[in-house]
Amino acid sequence: MAKKQVKRAKTKKAAPAARRASAARRPAAAARRSARPSASAKRGGASARTAKAKAGKYVYFFGNGKADGDRTMRDLLGGKGANLAEMTNAGLPVPPGFTITTAACNLWYANNGRLPAEIEREMEENVRKLEKLAGAQFGSVTNPLLVSVRSGAKFSMPGMMDTILNLGLNDQAVEGLKARTNNGRFAYDSYRRFIQMYGSVVLEIPKERFEHEFEAVKAERGAKTDTDLDEEGLRQVVERFKGVVLAETGKEFPQDPFVQLRGARDAVFRSWNNERAKTYRRLYEIPDHIGTAVNVQLMVFGNTGDRSATGVGFTRNPATGANEFFGEFLVNAQGEDVVAGIRTPQPIAELEKVMPKAYRELRQITKRLERHYRDIQDFEFTIQDEKLYMLQTRNGKRTGYAAVVIATDFVKEKLRTPREALLLVEPAALSQLLAPVFDPKEWAKLPVATRGLPASPGAASGQVVFTADEAVAWSQQGRKVLLVRKETVPDDIHGMEVAEGVLTATGGMTSHAAVVGRQMGKPSVVGAGEIQVNERERYFTVNGRTVREGDWVSFDGLTGEVKIGQVATNPSEILQVVSGRMKPEESDIYRRFNQLLTWADRERKLEIRANADMPDQAALAYAFGAKGIGLCRTEHMFFGEGRIEKVQRMILADNEADRRTALAELLPLQRDDFYGVFKAMKGQPVTIRMIDPPLHEFLPKREELMVEIARMEATGRTGPELEEKKRLLARVEQLHEFNPMLGHRGVRLGITYPEITEMQARAIFEATAQLVKEGIKVVPEVMIPLVGVVRELRDQKAIVDRVAQEVMKEKGVRFKYLVGTMIEVPRGAITADEIAKEAQFFSFGTNDLTQLTFGYSRDDVGKFLAIYQERKILERDPFQSIDTTGVGQLVEMAVERGRKTRPDIKLGVCGEHGGDPSSIHFFHKAGLDYVSASPYRVPVARLAAAHAALSVKVGD
Ligand code: PEP
Ligand code: MG
Repeated sequence: MAKKQVKRAKTKKAAPAARRASAARRPAAAARRSARPSASAKRGGASARTAKAKAGKYVYFFGNGKADGDRTMRDLLGGKGANLAEMTNAGLPVPPGFTITTAACNLWYANNGRLPAEIEREMEENVRKLEKLAGAQFGSVTNPLLVSVRSGAKFSMPGMMDTILNLGLNDQAVEGLKARTNNGRFAYDSYRRFIQMYGSVVLEIPKERFEHEFEAVKAERGAKTDTDLDEEGLRQVVERFKGVVLAETGKEFPQDPFVQLRGARDAVFRSWNNERAKTYRRLYEIPDHIGTAVNVQLMVFGNTGDRSATGVGFTRNPATGANEFFGEFLVNAQGEDVVAGIRTPQPIAELEKVMPKAYRELRQITKRLERHYRDIQDFEFTIQDEKLYMLQTRNGKRTGYAAVVIATDFVKEKLRTPREALLLVEPAALSQLLAPVFDPKEWAKLPVATRGLPASPGAASGQVVFTADEAVAWSQQGRKVLLVRKETVPDDIHGMEVAEGVLTATGGMTSHAAVVGRQMGKPSVVGAGEIQVNERERYFTVNGRTVREGDWVSFDGLTGEVKIGQVATNPSEILQVVSGRMKPEESDIYRRFNQLLTWADRERKLEIRANADMPDQAALAYAFGAKGIGLCRTEHMFFGEGRIEKVQRMILADNEADRRTALAELLPLQRDDFYGVFKAMKGQPVTIRMIDPPLHEFLPKREELMVEIARMEATGRTGPELEEKKRLLARVEQLHEFNPMLGHRGVRLGITYPEITEMQARAIFEATAQLVKEGIKVVPEVMIPLVGVVRELRDQKAIVDRVAQEVMKEKGVRFKYLVGTMIEVPRGAITADEIAKEAQFFSFGTNDLTQLTFGYSRDDVGKFLAIYQERKILERDPFQSIDTTGVGQLVEMAVERGRKTRPDIKLGVCGEHGGDPSSIHFFHKAGLDYVSASPYRVPVARLAAAHAALSVKVGD
């Protein structure tokens, strides 16, 4: 298990390193996140093969102002191929070439790595066409045809697959290149680069073998840098490289350009299934079966001298969205020089000074491209002897921040309608705007120490502490702390509250730490399995490093990356406005964010509520636009200051009278909380759920008590304190359960201790009565959890109804209320028609429904989930994104059966899936009335609900 995780971490780490320079210059995590193709794009068949796609055609030519394909053919030509065709058709200066389709790739895989002879022929015909157009021939000693061979899938996967440049060079052609360019050094440098690239990518010879030879020649010739090697030196390098190929493969380096081309093409096909590409696809939910296209394109050289250059850029700033030309270039360089970061590129504005004509043309072309695609473009170009060539254009990846800025600007510039602008922003990317952010430059300086599940977004940096009490003590001294726990338990909440973030070694996306973290907007990474926490001795180890209390650790709750060290963060402006610390007119990004969400509200059908337990969370949810509370977990109210003792007294009571006395103390506290929540929601609906978790969760841990008792006894401390501890231990043992998630919890508690339901109902109704008296309208929705049998609900409803009548009578006011249930036990979903006889509303508890449908414990799923995903047993974490085929069927069944009994039954969802965009899409289609998400995910849910409505409209 541990080994697997290490392996996985490594492949993940490899991905950003291999990313192209264009991405590396952006905040890495953000760029990767936004690299995710939009959910609607993946589902939608909008770019399906068009009439242009021809049966039996596997190679599409482009050049000289005309292309066989166009931008609509991304499925077949890949993103790069489709855009090269489109640019060619638009008359832009694109070096000619051809695209071998994704269908050919799939055929190649189906035929065990071979293509049928017809396709080989089709490719050769296209080479001939290219030769004619370029006036060059493969292997020519006067004017050799040289091409690049690049991958290009439907969804861009920057740097994940392989590329080969300068293909076509051999012992003769190199002389041809020398003759044509009159530059022997350049020709031999190109040849040695080609052998090296071909050797490592196609022939799979370790790169070091070539590097070793290269360094040896440099040493022999006293060359300090690569550029110190002259033509003669490079000729020697070429000879040595050919020697490496012979030694490693037993064969000479292939001299036939067609052999080279087939080898390179097959290597690109093969690279579709390399580890980093597979990892990337898993991360961004790109299907495995779609395959990659291969683009073969005439080489142009940015490295022929000082009148040549190569670069990459964006039409707008991809990090901030600012409407400024953004990019970098290198004079006298080839593509990978910019990518590899060996030389520091210059900002693109400098290009205007060194090559003004090419710069002006580039600026004009890229502006045109942006208007054509009606989106920010990420482009690559080469200037050969002052002539500009466009090598690529694609819609640019951007941070969530930039996405909002660009979308709102496009509407202002009339490039997009508000409805279209909504679709330019990934809902999940909005969380980035709410979370504190790392300074991207500082973040990139530290290596990743480990990864966990990205449970709650945000940047957290603090000094490590191992207990909640320490967290409080340290923060009172003004220190920033990061709470690191093996796992979190309910009474850690005070520590979580003051910590910058929470990091746990175990737990899944709906574990307590994750749920609470999100609800609080607290950055959290959970289930970081490589961390070994020693809470007693206050240190943890990770991959051989030891981190002690007080050491600095930082993590990104959006990616799950953990680093050792301190990194500076900046607070989110939007949060400052929403919480009233900043005026809306002072914040440009807030106004844009608000504008976008107002457009979203016009489109969506689903209502959005929030999961909030305390008045301050309810107020925040309201400010974020929630139209009600979908879940108030009353047990969370028990964790507040000075309350846990009262709850413990209630639990420890071994008779009803004592229990009632303890409950009487809790009543006013709960009543005040409910009053606060109702008031914060200003008359909007509030669903309050009766106590849910097993009671022992409120008591100290068995092992801790045993240690304390043993210590007291060993030091001779006897008396009432020791007796009390022993009594507590006895009760803890009595309450101990083997499967607490399946044990004495939910409605089962209310049935066995009806006085708890009674107290909670009274607190709800007394608060209601008070507000009604104050003239504020409140219609509480009382929710019974974990119902699987209609009689359970009937039993509890009777108590709630009785208490409501009592309170109305006592207080002399009348009020309305609803009684409903959670549908979170499969039997509840199956018998929803029965249950609807008693329930005025259903709220799907998809956390438990997922747990109970799969039979995976919510708290233990982290132990095997990664492997399940790696082996494709599960595509996604079902606790994060609803399993539409299994759990989803139960939801659909309950919707149908519930409505049959009670057509006006109110239907919502309050599991964590209520804040997950793809799950929201499903809930929209299932016809629910609302989704309920943690306050910080309310904006995400508003936008996702609009996306769902819009994509259903276009026939998805
Ligand atoms: C659920 O099960 O989906 C739910 C909302 O309840 P909880 O997470 O509190 O069990
Ligand atoms: Mg539940």
